[in-house]
Amino acid sequence: MSSEFLRFFTDRTESMVEELRRLVEFESPTDAKVHVDRLGTYVAGVCTGLGAAVEVFPREATGDLLIARWNADAPGKPIMILTHLDTVWPVGTLDRMPLRRESGLLYGPGAVDMKGGVLVALEAIRALVERDELPDRPVWLFFNTDEERGSRYSRDLIQEIAPACGLVLVMEPGTRSEAIKCWRKGMARYAIYTKGRATHAGFTPEEGINAVIEAAHQALALHRLNDLQNGTSVSVTIIEGGFTINVIPPDARLEVDVRFLSASEAERVDQAIQSLAPVLPGAQVIVEGGIDRGPMAYDDQMKRAVGQLQAIGASIDLEIHAEGSGGASDGNFTAALGVPTLDGLGAAGAGLHAADEHVIIRSLPRRAALLARVLCDWDMDAV
Ligand SMILES: [Zn+2]
Repeated sequence: MSSEFLRFFTDRTESMVEELRRLVEFESPTDAKVHVDRLGTYVAGVCTGLGAAVEVFPREATGDLLIARWNADAPGKPIMILTHLDTVWPVGTLDRMPLRRESGLLYGPGAVDMKGGVLVALEAIRALVERDELPDRPVWLFFNTDEERGSRYSRDLIQEIAPACGLVLVMEPGTRSEAIKCWRKGMARYAIYTKGRATHAGFTPEEGINAVIEAAHQALALHRLNDLQNGTSVSVTIIEGGFTINVIPPDARLEVDVRFLSASEAERVDQAIQSLAPVLPGAQVIVEGGIDRGPMAYDDQMKRAVGQLQAIGASIDLEIHAEGSGGASDGNFTAALGVPTLDGLGAAGAGLHAADEHVIIRSLPRRAALLARVLCDWDMDAV
């Protein structure tokens, strides 16, 4: 049955490409609620047509969140497929970056991040429904709408519903070689304000307290927190201060991006940053921000989950590799709660957030087949 199953999907490649075009043509940047909701209404209709009950969670600033549920009353914990409808591309991008098919690739804004993942999820379920093989277990399909802006208005809901799930499948892109993600770094963000005293740089420089110099001291102290060999990066990415050339600056600001592989490293860096002290006499240092999300760790549970995924892949002649990423996703939230999470199950491709963003068309049926088999065959007790 293995090759027959994969062939069933491969034979649908052209209709998948057509459907992916349709999804990309709904331009859906995070901040354009009306546009994101239009796409939400479309995918909700598709899910309803496939027998799902769709629940809407209204949001004011961003698109409404949606959960499509199949077999809600079936026994066992749900498998939740996590997608996002929003993209980084403003409305109008299609005019200068039109959909283009070339050498087995489909180029377009949001094509792989993650309209391709949305497509894979919908097509896996469509195929199982048509074959009358949808398993007797609850399947949830979550559509986020602000993932590209840090999931500010969705993370609470994701964290609320994830603990009930036995498995979370994140449809972020796979790599060019169709590898999934088996770890992601966690993230912390800070804004650090230094305060000094303004004075005329010519008349009374000795009376000033230079907030820019204080910021420079802090920048170097922050930089020393790096431990790249252990996967911890502390990057001062913005430094700004002063307002005119002949005044000692009373204010400056730093922004800091921190990534880490373990909760203990997050703690170490966070404590160091929260206790930053001024170097210049009379200066002040004010720290805002903190740990944004924990890592999706490559722990024993992850190893078992990846192993099971690889076995399921092998059953339909797909060889699945796993890699890590310094970039975060909604999978960080669910993994940090201890819920078995697999990420990077969406379409394969490259050029995320870049002008050459594209999907590898061949991966669409392969990923849909893999997801369909996982929905049918996943053994929660083996993770
Ligand atoms: Zn994404």
